Amino acid sequence: MATADITVYGAGVFGLSVAWACQSRGARVRVIDPHGVAAGASGGIVGALAPHVPENWNAKKAFQLDSLLMAGDFWREIAEISGLDPGYARHGRLQPIEDGPALERALARAEGARALWRGAAEWRVVPAPAGNDPWQPAGAGGHLIHDTLSARVHPRRACTALATALTARGAEILPDGAATGLVLWATGAAGLARLSDETGRAAGSAIKGQAALFQLDRAGAPQLYADGLHVVPHADGTVAVGSTSERTFASPDGTDALLDDVIARARHAVAALRDAPVIARWAGLRPRARSRAPMLGAHPLRQGHFIANGGFKIGFGMAPKVAEVMARLMLDGVDDIPEGFEVRASL
Ligand SMILES: Cc1cc2nc3c(=O)[nH]c(=O)nc-3n(C[C@H](O)[C@H](O)[C@H](O)COP(=O)(O)OP(=O)(O)OC[C@H]3O[C@@H](n4cnc5c(N)ncnc54)[C@H](O)[C@@H]3O)c2cc1C
Repeated sequence: MATADITVYGAGVFGLSVAWACQSRGARVRVIDPHGVAAGASGGIVGALAPHVPENWNAKKAFQLDSLLMAGDFWREIAEISGLDPGYARHGRLQPIEDGPALERALARAEGARALWRGAAEWRVVPAPAGNDPWQPAGAGGHLIHDTLSARVHPRRACTALATALTARGAEILPDGAATGLVLWATGAAGLARLSDETGRAAGSAIKGQAALFQLDRAGAPQLYADGLHVVPHADGTVAVGSTSERTFASPDGTDALLDDVIARARHAVAALRDAPVIARWAGLRPRARSRAPMLGAHPLRQGHFIANGGFKIGFGMAPKVAEVMARLMLDGVDDIPEGFEVRASL
């Protein structure tokens, strides 16, 4: 069989991951992004790979579970070939259980996880540590949820590692150039706006997020989820906290008082953050498809073109499985895309 040529527009985590999966299956790959690697939402700092709650199971949740379980091998291979650390580690997550009804729900979900997570990870209710452990979420009425599935990756470094692995194996990553062969559009929020213009239908929108980075070494500790915030310790002695969720905004990449509020809530929710300095503030635009699910499949207007978009709040968690199904669709014509993830679901 002749080698397939693939041109990927967009060097975010979706474009780079699909490029990697196609290259691993023997395709010759070119990635084009005028703004460079991880210039969009994927250049962020949070990187929580956190599961949906194990209840009301559906194809979307099953897809995400597969992807989270693929992540360890996926990022290990990228680390080996690039020689760079994508910052992946699976240290689990703690969440507070505030009251009796929440405890009942958590216990039911522990049962759900036993049935649904195939023995690959646990969702368990544990006693909150006695004393004043500064690394626990405030508001726990004596118990915490501890899940062993949550992991983290360093978004910006993961994309740099992916790009380095791709070029080490012969791919080109360019600021511009002509498309050859099959074409993938993984162009994030800009791609959703363009698709909306081209089809005359609102395919999705940009949802701004702001996040902060604290100087605090908790590498190896579980991430926390408290007061609606992801608190994610990274290997480099920092802790990322996010995020806001903004439908309307004046500046797509500026940070403001909304992030000050996130920082104040994080300091209140986690004692260890109270006096830790904030060393970076970051904002980006999440690509949210109209369906809120990833948008995957053939381009509705162009033969031989495909779309991978709509990563929204969990693009890094979804990337390994998105890469697999898109490579199978583009190279083998096999369509494993779950119902609700198809491009038409958002048009
Ligand atoms: C504050 C914040 C916190 C987040 N936290 C998490 C988290 O904890 N866990 C998680 O899993 N996800 C998280 N996300 C979501 C995640 O970052 C996104 O889902 C993911 O990065 C989307 O990847 P993408 O490749 O689709 O888009 P992007 O990363 O936006 O990449 C699109 C790329 O396309 C390029 N482009 C645009 N137009 C063109 C064109 N015409 N030609 C070529 N290239 C083009 C852009 O330059 C850009 O590089 C967060 C997002 C934000 C903003």
